[in-house]
Amino acid sequence: MDPSEFRRSGHALVEWIADYLSGSEEYPVLPRVAPGDVRAALPERAPEAGEPFEAIFDDFERVLVPALTHWNHPGFFAYFPATTSASGVLAEFLSAALNQNAMLWRTSPAATELEEVSLGWLRALLGLPDDFEGVIYDTASISSLHALAAARQAAVPHVREQGLAARSDLRPMRIYCSEQAHSSIDKAVLTLGFGHASLRKIPVDASFNMRADALRNALDEDTRNGVTPVAVVATVGTTSTTGIDPVAAIADLCVDRGIWLHVDAAYAGVTAMLPECRQYFSGWERADSIVVNPHKWLFTPFDLSAFYCRRMNVVREAFSVVPDYLKTAEGNAGVRNLMDTGIQLGRRFRALKLWMILRHFGAERLRDILREHIRLAQQFAADVDDHPDFERLAPAPFATVCFRANPRGIALTAPELERLNERVLDRVNASGEVFLSHTRLNGAFAIRISIGHLRTSGVHTARAWQLLVEHTAALAAAR
Ligand SMILES: *Cc1c(COP(=O)(O)O)cnc(C)c1O
Repeated sequence: MDPSEFRRSGHALVEWIADYLSGSEEYPVLPRVAPGDVRAALPERAPEAGEPFEAIFDDFERVLVPALTHWNHPGFFAYFPATTSASGVLAEFLSAALNQNAMLWRTSPAATELEEVSLGWLRALLGLPDDFEGVIYDTASISSLHALAAARQAAVPHVREQGLAARSDLRPMRIYCSEQAHSSIDKAVLTLGFGHASLRKIPVDASFNMRADALRNALDEDTRNGVTPVAVVATVGTTSTTGIDPVAAIADLCVDRGIWLHVDAAYAGVTAMLPECRQYFSGWERADSIVVNPHKWLFTPFDLSAFYCRRMNVVREAFSVVPDYLKTAEGNAGVRNLMDTGIQLGRRFRALKLWMILRHFGAERLRDILREHIRLAQQFAADVDDHPDFERLAPAPFATVCFRANPRGIALTAPELERLNERVLDRVNASGEVFLSHTRLNGAFAIRISIGHLRTSGVHTARAWQLLVEHTAALAAAR
């Protein structure tokens, strides 16, 4: 592409993106395509002769856009909304152009040091002490994998040299998390060779928070039976209900017994920026490691997960492998080489987007937006509580509400109630105006709304509530 063609295409793209970022509401949130539609619309083989950007972009608009699920729609209330922002998009554009590979300090001093600076800024906003060293990974799943790898390094003698296989000198090992912990903890345990049976899921209380007394009993019982506790994962803001494990009580147990404590705050961590939410994080400063995802609720384009660790040297002990061709003089002089704090060698310039977002929004505006999302969710929860045909199924400390329709005056069996709620959810989502998801709580089907999009306002949450009420009424009347 010559410079003039790049300019032309680039300007056209910026125009398209500007319209998209402000006008995504014009698309249905969920695309109306069937499995295989996209594949069928595209040739089976790559072209032999290159094509102009305009032709490719036409196909992007014709084939791909109708098959996008619009995470950038203010009616996106499913899972955890993850919005991008204009400053984040610009940073990604630049990052692609610069193509920095920050494996060594010398392969990108800017990316290496900006990562330290921007994670330092975020750490201060979250109220975490300076002894937490930060590193950016792509996802919380990978952050938690590194946390548990470090825990394994700390707890298992000679694991780096000898691994875990066929070792008669090792006792059985166990990792603990609540029944509500994220599936990434299961995957980390599988990946690290502990085996799924080594993951002990601790029961939760009526609010879906880990029971510290049950954790204590589990640790006592396992220790009596000759099991080595390797790590405990506490979650602040679980994925189904945004439950809050009692981190302070869990930290007491872990510090006492010398067990690695990892705090998964992938979703809710950013709310530690709000003084009124700090209470939920009490004790996390005593954790060994913490993960917070700016790509979830801090308007950062996917992928940016912030991993903080008070014992990053253990991460280095677990992963640092420096072949001759990657040895550098400044490496001996104590600069950070980011390849040492993780599995991957190459890494892209992710810090750029976090830096631009923190600067462009400013902390005050970020706090205001988070507060507004929480306010809208609390309003929604109050609407559910006040309506005789709906009931709430979990506390809603952040911006996510779990509830179900249960129309008054009709006696429904549990399966009928479940079917009704599935149908309500399907119809609401078929509107194209909003997209909500579901979960299962104590066996019951729950509808789940999570508010976190940059442009979501009270208009959108009110419309979601109106659709829920109308479809519930219609389905109840049709019985
Ligand atoms: C979303 C989420 C994750 C996984 O996040 P990825 O960045 O997609 O890996 C992990 N834990 C919790 C609590 C989450 O909400």
